[in-house]
Amino acid sequence: MKLHHDYDLSHANTMALTCTAHTAIELFDTADITPAITYAKLNSLPLLVLSGGSNVILPNKLKACVLLPRFNGIHTISKSDTHVLISAKAGENWHEFVQTCLDNGWYGLENLALIPGLVGACPVQNIGAYGVQVSDFIEKVIAYDLTTGTQCEFKNAKCQFTYRHSLFKDNPNRYLISEVIFKLHTSSDHVQSNYGDLAALSLKLAHQDNRKTIHPKDVFNAVIAIRQSKLPDPKVLANCGSFFQNPIISMAQFTSLKTQHASLPSYLIDDNNVKIPAGWLIDMAGLKGGGIFPILTHRLQALVLTNHTPHIATANDIQKSQDFIIDTVHDKFGVQLVREPVWIDEQGYHA
Ligand SMILES: Cc1cc2nc3c(=O)[nH]c(=O)nc-3n(C[C@H](O)[C@H](O)[C@H](O)COP(=O)(O)OP(=O)(O)OC[C@H]3O[C@@H](n4cnc5c(N)ncnc54)[C@H](O)[C@@H]3O)c2cc1C
Repeated sequence: MKLHHDYDLSHANTMALTCTAHTAIELFDTADITPAITYAKLNSLPLLVLSGGSNVILPNKLKACVLLPRFNGIHTISKSDTHVLISAKAGENWHEFVQTCLDNGWYGLENLALIPGLVGACPVQNIGAYGVQVSDFIEKVIAYDLTTGTQCEFKNAKCQFTYRHSLFKDNPNRYLISEVIFKLHTSSDHVQSNYGDLAALSLKLAHQDNRKTIHPKDVFNAVIAIRQSKLPDPKVLANCGSFFQNPIISMAQFTSLKTQHASLPSYLIDDNNVKIPAGWLIDMAGLKGGGIFPILTHRLQALVLTNHTPHIATANDIQKSQDFIIDTVHDKFGVQLVREPVWIDEQGYHA
């Protein structure tokens, strides 16, 4: 393991916020976990696990011991006629792992291409995109309980996966996920391409290759093309993806809003609840490209907040812009927006 004091995390979060951690420990082996816990206890420092920093808002000063899992390795555990069990260590880059799976003929994760972050974080918010959730393919999660240092295994059903949620999200900093076991298809027949723009583009790519059927590689390439056309690349313009959750409102409120705004898009949840797009609300409130400088919504995708002074802006700037957007949308539509990324306070706690 490698221990650092006053560690600069401004390059370790995709929002590029200024952040200095009291202590950071790079963990290269699971045997490093217990000594790291002991170090934090002896120095009375709370623990915080950080991977790719693509779903967090970090404070200016972090008075915590940040654990940075760097475990690497991908290997096959077993193979049947239809499936393969693959182990991937927490420090593997998520998108590169998806690419490796495709290259080896292990299918299922292609819809989740280009999601930033590391493998160890994928179960935390049960990442999802284009009609697929990672929980559909997780067999087991291997983690370490940071209160005791003991290893625990969570079969899929124990992870309590729901939409963008899991047991790990409910218990922040309790577990350090060290490895995820995936159950993937060995046949290319199971493509999921009937989601939004994906169907037409996947088919177009298959036809370009003189094929009638869509291959997972077509879905992979289509997802990449769609994401690149819609979402800003954090390496070019600092951001942490969708900043607000799509609000779920009552049918009564929806009916009233729809009367005033005929173009309001919607997705029926059940007889009493309707989901509406946060991006549409922000756009219609006149805030596409708006906010409080240096934190502005993206000029093409109002749901994404971008940082125009990387490595200078702080969580305080995010707070001001976020509050302004929430208040403006509430004043116009009476709908309360809720933040999606995890807000970390100075003690490393998740707010
Ligand atoms: C441009 C962009 C697009 C995105 N698109 C999507 C999308 O389509 N779908 C989607 O679901 N998400 C999306 N995200 C959000 C983000 O990429 C995912 O949530 C991702 O899984 C976060 O990974 P990370 O390694 O960056 O985690 P971090 O941001 O470092 O951590 C996120 C949370 O997980 C915890 N954590 C991290 N690693 C571990 C570990 N090993 N053990 C235990 N806890 C851990 C942290 O404490 C924190 O609470 C997007 C983000 C960006 C910037």
